[in-house]
Amino acid sequence: MTEPLTANYDPSQYVRTWSAPSELRITDIRISHVTGAPMRCPLIKIITNQGVEGYGEVRDAASPQYAAMLRRHLIGENPCAVDRIFRRIKQFGGPARQGGGVSGIEVALWDLAGKAYGVPCYQLLGGKFRDSIRIYCDTDADGKPDGLAMGTALKKRMERGFTFLKMDLGVNQIASIPGALSAPLGYLDKLAALAQAVQEAPDEAARRVARRRQYDAYNVQHPFTGLHLTEKGLQCLEEYVAQVRSVIGDEVPLAVDHLGHIALEDAIALARRVEKYHLAWLEDAIPWQYTEQYMRLARATTVPICTGEDIYLKEGFRPLLEAGAVAVIHPDILTAGGMLETKKIADLAQEYGVALAMHMAESPIACLAAVHTSAACENFYVLENHSVDVPWWDDLVCGTAKPLVQQGFIRVPEKPGLGIEALNDEVIARHMDPQGPGLWASTEYWENDISHDRLWS
Ligand SMILES: [Mg+2]
Repeated sequence: MTEPLTANYDPSQYVRTWSAPSELRITDIRISHVTGAPMRCPLIKIITNQGVEGYGEVRDAASPQYAAMLRRHLIGENPCAVDRIFRRIKQFGGPARQGGGVSGIEVALWDLAGKAYGVPCYQLLGGKFRDSIRIYCDTDADGKPDGLAMGTALKKRMERGFTFLKMDLGVNQIASIPGALSAPLGYLDKLAALAQAVQEAPDEAARRVARRRQYDAYNVQHPFTGLHLTEKGLQCLEEYVAQVRSVIGDEVPLAVDHLGHIALEDAIALARRVEKYHLAWLEDAIPWQYTEQYMRLARATTVPICTGEDIYLKEGFRPLLEAGAVAVIHPDILTAGGMLETKKIADLAQEYGVALAMHMAESPIACLAAVHTSAACENFYVLENHSVDVPWWDDLVCGTAKPLVQQGFIRVPEKPGLGIEALNDEVIARHMDPQGPGLWASTEYWENDISHDRLWS
């Protein structure tokens, strides 16, 4: 029987009166630039006429201007029309960090829509397949000269509850070993000299020029460097993986990343050498644009092949999926085009029998955007977190579980939007990029920016 209403019953306590979604309008966009998380994280705050704020973020290490420049397309709009706004701004995104502005704004729009309608973001994406999200943390090769040291670092991850591991494996581990690499004579010395020139530049103007020279050198793609692994190099890397497995055992999944700019044939040789260590995947062995090379790689080894953190939009993933060139895709929400686009990418991958892992090296804002999206994708596998060793990372946001990652998993939040009640300005201010524009800097400059942007006539 239904309980009778008491005299004290007040139905208004169950009705949210602070948001009328149909009348919600974007009034302002602000940017704060955090550093050391461990990457640089340009945070976005979209402010509305009803006191509701939406949180987003530009991809790690990107310029906040990728988002700020979109202001003239957003002020006065209803943020709940997420897909309509996304289709207007998507032409201003691109691969890797260039996708960060469009994607970061899209995340903030979903956060607003969720808050306005009082539902968590995963529900807006179709509902969830799981209540908690498996996390892995990237483990780089710094300070780990051999596989035993790397294995010990990975073992510590397992002791903290992580059930999936990733490490670097490639040129960086063997660069100082004589005879491990082959390259046109003088090439490696030139790279070292360019790095030294940045360090020793006499002033900021000279440093900028030196950085551009270094960027040009590191921007040479794998097929064109002439850099190869020798037999000794292959032996060293095989031994490195064998040592890691001797410490962590055979059962826990182990993915590898950061091979270096070696040619396709070298990636195949390395993959074949380490097949017996049953890697979870080999990541970004070659630039993602080379679909035919990915096909050759995938057909030459039993190691699962993975790429995707630099691919923008579903159409960017389609050629690799249609070619059967990858076993795992690894999009970053803040490059792929945001939450709904990543859901579409995941569903497309599922049609081809490809698993979804996710790249994530940003703040809790992007992390929770990835958590909600991962929850809503059936073929989800594992989500990255780069910040488990940054003690203040969780404190950038208020109202979430602390710490976010517990025993290797993140619980999917049930609060409206991303599940973040507020941003912690005190912590953000303490970790601001000194070169950045300041705490919640204005983007007003971009409001009157005028351009005829249609892509056809
Ligand atoms: Mg990677």
